[in-house]
Amino acid sequence: MQPSPSIGQTLLLVEDNEDNRIIYSTVLRHVGYDVVEAVDGRQALALARSANPDLILMDISIPEIDGWEVTRILREDPATKDIPIIALTAHALADDRERAQAVGFTSYLAKPVEPRAVVAEVQRWIGAGVRQAGAAGMPPAAG
Ligand SMILES: [Mg+2]
Repeated sequence: MQPSPSIGQTLLLVEDNEDNRIIYSTVLRHVGYDVVEAVDGRQALALARSANPDLILMDISIPEIDGWEVTRILREDPATKDIPIIALTAHALADDRERAQAVGFTSYLAKPVEPRAVVAEVQRWIGAGVRQAGAAGMPPAAG
């Protein structure tokens, strides 16, 4: 039996830029998600395994271990291989989009990413945060 898709969902936000991290975490908490934060690849791996996130937002350019490698490692681990992972990258190149698919990212957002676009992409994969659950006027994204 599946738990309610809208209650108590935890996001892992991996982002080394403090301004971006504060903006994204603030808006994601505002709409009702629990957010844990990592500032480099080692923290990302540790929290992906310990915090049991429902979804990961992964900056590509991060210290220690980059987002490509962190995602590759998570995809090889049975405990984490099915977690949706959304790439956040400054590189909007077609090569990066193809590489993101090959490495196993679930989807891809090219920076600069507006906070509401981050929320919309998270909702597309795991549904609305608890404060938005049942709110009118929030149909699921098409496609
Ligand atoms: Mg970065």
